[in-house]
Amino acid sequence: MRALITGGAGFVGSHLAETLLNRGHEVLILDNLATGSIDNISHLKGREGFGYAIETIANEPVLAELIDRSDVVFHLAAAVGVKLIVEEPVHTIETNVHGTEVVLKHANKKKKLVVIASTSEVYGKSTAVPFREDADLVMGPTPKHRWAYACSKAIDEFLALAYWKEKKLPVIIVRLFNTVGPRQTGQYGMVLPTFVRQALASQPITVFGDGTQSRSFTYVGDVVDALVRLVQEPKAVGEVFNIGNGAEISIGDLAERVKTLAKSASAIVKVPYDQAYEAGFEDMPRRVPDISKIRNLIGYEPKVHLDEIICRVIDYFRKR
Ligand code: UDP
Repeated sequence: MRALITGGAGFVGSHLAETLLNRGHEVLILDNLATGSIDNISHLKGREGFGYAIETIANEPVLAELIDRSDVVFHLAAAVGVKLIVEEPVHTIETNVHGTEVVLKHANKKKKLVVIASTSEVYGKSTAVPFREDADLVMGPTPKHRWAYACSKAIDEFLALAYWKEKKLPVIIVRLFNTVGPRQTGQYGMVLPTFVRQALASQPITVFGDGTQSRSFTYVGDVVDALVRLVQEPKAVGEVFNIGNGAEISIGDLAERVKTLAKSASAIVKVPYDQAYEAGFEDMPRRVPDISKIRNLIGYEPKVHLDEIICRVIDYFRKR
């Protein structure tokens, strides 16, 4: 198959491109390099079946042409990272809603399969862990900009499912849970690359809040393997899937693991949320996926353990 990856020069997109090429598929990338980087895909240049365009998805003639040439679209282009979202809410909402709108509109012309990358953030403040795909989404109030990201992605999901219901456009929605691995920069606030960079530079490791909040981290390789297998499963169409890892760790413990594995002398310091993000910032205490739906359909099982992930990320930053 030939796949178009919007946001293909980003962290997840570049790993997906590589995996698809390794499995004999062709790949086209559309990326405006807003948060992605040409370094992420430079090793793919010259590989058979690989092409890319540095352009925004808002350029509809280019987008339409690339969709036309593809069998499946992985729509990964989005404004991501809690820091970016809090600092640039207009950009976040416009990019995430408009981008998905135009991708679905053009894919619909020839009924090309579209995978919409959504996020565990849509579960919001729900405490019904582990989160199931059919559970209620619990958003915070609109003056708190963090929720703009969750809502923009929820609108993307609604729109994609509406295209499926009303126009029979095949879509698959995936909710990614704290995906981590090499090439994630941490420039926009993601915790693991931030901790690793701090640990390697012997700078304080900044735990926001009291560090008891937990996350479950998934290796990017496990995520992209699931994506490639999902598009080959007809029963996935019209469905929403969590892609994550059930293993949970508190952010305080994560800081300790990073410090130990990096053999770092860094101090671990606590930073109040107000100082880290904005006054009144709301964090989620826990975020754990229920992965039984995707496990039952394609036999998905995350393979890479957190310590191994941390070591790979340390390795990546040491080589840079
Ligand atoms: N976090 C932290 N220190 C940092 C960056 C993030 O303690 O330098 C915390 C953040 O407050 C959250 C968790 O780590 O509780 C995960 O943050 P991230 O931005 O990676 O993803 P999120 O789960 O918030 O989307």
